[in-house]
Amino acid sequence: MANSKYGYVRSFEQPDSLLSNTWIVVRIDGRGFSKLTAKYKFIKPNDRNALDLMNAAAEAVMKELPDLVLAYGNSDEYSFVFHKDCVLFERRASKLTTTIVSTFTSYYVFLWSTYFPDKPLTPPLPSFDGRAVCYPSDINLRDYMSWRQVDCHINNLYNTTFWTLVQQGGMGAQEAEQRLSGTVSSDKNEILFKDFGINYNNEPECFKKGTVLYRDFFPTPAAQRTSLQTLAAFPSPPIASPQPTRPYFRPVSQPIGRTIPYPQDQV
Ligand code: ATP
Ligand code: ATP
Ligand code: MG
Ligand code: MG
Ligand code: MG
Ligand code: MG
Repeated sequence: MANSKYGYVRSFEQPDSLLSNTWIVVRIDGRGFSKLTAKYKFIKPNDRNALDLMNAAAEAVMKELPDLVLAYGNSDEYSFVFHKDCVLFERRASKLTTTIVSTFTSYYVFLWSTYFPDKPLTPPLPSFDGRAVCYPSDINLRDYMSWRQVDCHINNLYNTTFWTLVQQGGMGAQEAEQRLSGTVSSDKNEILFKDFGINYNNEPECFKKGTVLYRDFFPTPAAQRTSLQTLAAFPSPPIASPQPTRPYFRPVSQPIGRTIPYPQDQV
């Protein structure tokens, strides 16, 4: 094939290797999930099963791609971080992105019935888009994560207030939208608290802040591993050089801002 008279067409392919020594973030996002959530009657504003399914698919992606060190997800999106020293697929953007997107989509569809046993999937089936972006510094990567998390917070506060006005306040969608137009965060907190007795702070952490999956580079002795205290802010990504402990790679799912039991040692 390589030497046929047709081989010249390979020269039309554009190089797309990503800059060396930078964090590569591949973000995927569900296509048309506003429609999909309506079709499968997701609980609004946050369907826990749907979030668990996203997290399970992301965990499977991390298990299949050892070069991934960290992932962050909320709503219908997930960001996957390849280590700076990653050389997978010669760092080609299209190969990295399409492999993540298709692996994630396969698991999302494969695991669907586990999370929605009473809602069989029918076409059009769930699909995701994806893009790859390089971040040169650790601060840039951290700010990227903060950017996605702020987006999660703003959307979730809006959605929580909107759906409370609709579900508990008896408003129509348009009326609720009008009520919220021009409001700032403190106004929404006040609507929730004064009109409905809801303290937004008490909403589940993974609704407010999203979910982090990270690889446990440096497992401590089992005896010390009783729990993991997480930071209220975004936890520092595990950016230490991973090579010496590659065999110990293991994804850990963790809603931000909460102490969770450490998973059983599997190594
Ligand atoms: P696009 O194809 O442009 O991404 P979209 O309809 O997917 O279009 P998004 O901006 O990605 O638009 O929004 C995702 C939608 O899915 C939002 O309306 C969000 O509230 C909804 N959604 C995602 N996850 C859940 C969930 N777990 N529970 C309820 N709704 C969800
Ligand atoms: P890569 O991840 O680099 O693509 P690969 O193992 O998929 O690695 P390919 O060059 O894509 O490598 O080759 C695909 C392989 O799958 C070949 O060995 C091919 O013979 C085999 N294969 C694909 N389709 C079939 C099929 N329908 N029946 C039998 N073998 C198949
Ligand atoms: Mg999109
Ligand atoms: Mg979407
Ligand atoms: Mg989205
Ligand atoms: Mg192949």
